[in-house]
Amino acid sequence: MANFFKNFKKIFSTPTSANEPFLKLKIKCKRCSEEITINLRKTSDFSRVYEDDNPPAGSAFFLRKEILGNKCNNLIYITEYFDENFNIVSQEIEGGEFL
Ligand SMILES: [Zn+2]
Repeated sequence: MANFFKNFKKIFSTPTSANEPFLKLKIKCKRCSEEITINLRKTSDFSRVYEDDNPPAGSAFFLRKEILGNKCNNLIYITEYFDENFNIVSQEIEGGEFL
């Protein structure tokens, strides 16, 4: 019950949801198999796609991120393209795999 109230309070004491993770990605490190969850934020992690960049058809936003797990120093690179509704259009990963 205590936990319930804690969560309840958390929801209502943060008026801006701009910084709340709105999309979670799960990936796995190729080297040590660590599973890493990445919290993406609409405001800071996404960039507009420009026609000049020759983006995949239908994409409106893209995301490029370097991820470092806790267990080893293998850097994982992800590139994802999303449409206007933030549905994944295409995704690429180096150094790891999507779960
Ligand atoms: Zn690793």
